[in-house]
Amino acid sequence: MSDNIDLSFLDNAPAAIMFVKIEKNENNEVTSFSYKYTNQKLKEVGIVVDCQVFEKTLIDVLNSENKEELKVCVKVATEGEDTLTDHYFSVSCWQPNPEYCGCIFKDITKERRAETNKTIEIENSNVILQNTAELLIDFDLRQLNIECLKEKRYIPVIDCTDLEGAIDLRPCTLAEGSIKKFVKMLDALTNYTMQVKGKLKIQTGNSDKYEWYEIRLCREGQRIVGCGRNINSSMLELERLQLQAERDSLTGILNHKAAERLIESNHIKEAGSMFLMDIDDFKTINDTHGHPNGDEVIKNMADILQYSFRQDDIIYRIGGDEFGVFAPGFCEYEEINERCKLLFSEIEGFGRRIPFSASVGVAINDPYMTSSYKKLYKRADEALYSAKHGGKGKAFIDIN
Ligand code: GH3
Ligand code: MG
Repeated sequence: MSDNIDLSFLDNAPAAIMFVKIEKNENNEVTSFSYKYTNQKLKEVGIVVDCQVFEKTLIDVLNSENKEELKVCVKVATEGEDTLTDHYFSVSCWQPNPEYCGCIFKDITKERRAETNKTIEIENSNVILQNTAELLIDFDLRQLNIECLKEKRYIPVIDCTDLEGAIDLRPCTLAEGSIKKFVKMLDALTNYTMQVKGKLKIQTGNSDKYEWYEIRLCREGQRIVGCGRNINSSMLELERLQLQAERDSLTGILNHKAAERLIESNHIKEAGSMFLMDIDDFKTINDTHGHPNGDEVIKNMADILQYSFRQDDIIYRIGGDEFGVFAPGFCEYEEINERCKLLFSEIEGFGRRIPFSASVGVAINDPYMTSSYKKLYKRADEALYSAKHGGKGKAFIDIN
């Protein structure tokens, strides 16, 4: 190949092509080049090579082993336009001999712009996700083992706070009551719908307790993707309001229905104990002192329970002169016995206007044995019956 070689056969080639002559230094390194030939297509796409940028990169490529895929950004003014636009080309180079280099340009502006837009879109969605969704869920249905899910209560969740770096598949655990709901949601997605929504109680990797999340899932082929929003504070507020509506009007403590629901949903699977208290000979109190004074005694009893038990214990009025307390985690015989003694001394205490006594029945909840509120209540009620028949003003503790 020489300076005079006829390359006119490339004039109408469909690709944009150019030839450059290479200058090398004594170390055989390419130091510069000069344009020798450009074909019609190259002129058509209007490549005006930005020499500084292009020279440097082309020289780099010519000096490197890999002579493929030089990506350059050039500013071009195409016919009819007088402004320069950013265009991107990939340039493949080959050297027919050491002095010359041929370059074929491929316009990759569209792909490059699409790529840039996609990156911006992903970055934007990451920002949005980091600020709105608190859980991201993404898993392959084919790899999800429902039995394992039920057993380990595992929900495959991506922590979106980590989206920029490696995605962290953090295990989240579903609360007992939420597993069935979650499996039902998956079932719906697998069988008849593309989108589901539900409120689940989940313990995430960065919390030591279960919290309420509103989960939205949709199906994309075999993948289930979705997100979860923490709605714990509004759910707790709702629960609090519901409970408030379920308070006993005379004493202000929970009524039986509310307490039963609370214990059944949150505590029945935990170790703990149920105390039932019934005022002794209350009919006589009513008869002797009148109904309003009887009410006063009922209120006294509710107060005594509130300062005799702990903050987390669930104290409620069953009805009439009967009260209940569920004490989570309180299940040692000795401590229960001590608590009953304390209760009796409080009832006897500080010269009451209308003295009274009460009997106490206690059932210790074995979470592996007792499966419902009603069963535990029945045992506590039988214990109370035993206490009454043991002579009133006494406690009977049913260990299991
Ligand atoms: P025992 O020692 O066996 O418990 O006998 P008791 O007389 O206390 O019998 P029981 O517990 O069955 O009596 C409950 C009574 O409480 C019957 C009912 O008239 C009365 N009572 C129920 N609700 C109220 C109330 O809101 N206020 C008042 N003052 N009395 C009530
Ligand atoms: Mg009574």
